[in-house]
Amino acid sequence: MAPLDSHGRKINYLRLSVTDRCNLRCRYCMPAGGVPKHGHGDILGYDDLRRVAQAAVALGMEKIRVTGGEPLVRKGIVGFLEKLANLPGLERLVLTTNGVLLKEMAAELRGAGVESLNISLDSLRPDTFFRITRGGDLRQVLEGIEAAERAGFPYLKINVVVMRGVNEDEVADFAALTLDRPYRVRFIEYMPTSPGDTRRPLTVPGEELLLKLSERYRLLPSGREALAGPAVYYRIAGAVGMVGVITPVSCHFCGDCNRVRITSTGVARSCLFSDSGVDLKPFLKEGDGTLLQCALRRVVEAKPERHSLCGDTEGHVPLPMSLVGG
Ligand code: SAM
Ligand code: SF4
Repeated sequence: MAPLDSHGRKINYLRLSVTDRCNLRCRYCMPAGGVPKHGHGDILGYDDLRRVAQAAVALGMEKIRVTGGEPLVRKGIVGFLEKLANLPGLERLVLTTNGVLLKEMAAELRGAGVESLNISLDSLRPDTFFRITRGGDLRQVLEGIEAAERAGFPYLKINVVVMRGVNEDEVADFAALTLDRPYRVRFIEYMPTSPGDTRRPLTVPGEELLLKLSERYRLLPSGREALAGPAVYYRIAGAVGMVGVITPVSCHFCGDCNRVRITSTGVARSCLFSDSGVDLKPFLKEGDGTLLQCALRRVVEAKPERHSLCGDTEGHVPLPMSLVGG
């Protein structure tokens, strides 16, 4: 039975960041020079990450998303995922990736027991993609998506961070991908999260996006998935796939929040924008799984009702997404 937080929400979803390193430098996520690197000694080893996952599952969490930084750049990731997939009691193991290494790795990931992939892709135009990611090659990601389809993932989620004046004009093109492919294309409101970020005008509210899409397509509400993240889905009439919106900034989001996060350095955070976290390393050193579970339970119980981006950016704790795993 999944634990409840103090606001009565069922917390059944753990996001586990396995690295703060990345092979891209997306403008909304990382500074151009990357984030200050943690030493290898600060990043949790696979054994410790697995013990955190085990404690979370013992507490009643049912779904784990492995994220980063870019999880596929960490050596040995496939073997680690295979061990996670075999954790008794875990219902769903999923992964978020930028897709750059997917062409080579998709089949292994599927073989390891990863149930589905979220692939971040913010533009279908090579030059815009290059600009947003500071040097990324769109072709690699598109080939990665094809490889994932061949590997037999039943559906793929494509995450698009929509930014005004940057890629908002591509929303209809992304939605068109769902007409004949089993993709779930999710439009995410840009969150001003980096230190000193004053670019709130870049955020395109989810409602505005839906309005624009509905001028072009007939959208049928599809609701939410079981063990869901925060996306609200629609199906274009006759389409194979779905489109969704994720609205962390316009705040139709916190009331159904079901997750806690673990950073790659082993800090458990109950909210994306909270500065309070519990360092799990001392509990891992103790080697006592029950203490680890108690620490996680405390994090669940301390989950704030809503995050501090709601209404005003003032007072929110800016933290590059690559550190908390998005
Ligand atoms: N490297 C992987 C990737 O890009 O998919 C996983 C880590 S990334 C931090 C996880 C998710 O956070 C991505 O979908 C990314 O688009 C999203 N993200 C990062 N910064 C964001 C921001 N400022 N606003 C909205 N989404 C953001
Ligand atoms: Fe890397 Fe993902 Fe952040 Fe882009 S969003 S810089 S791919 S961690």
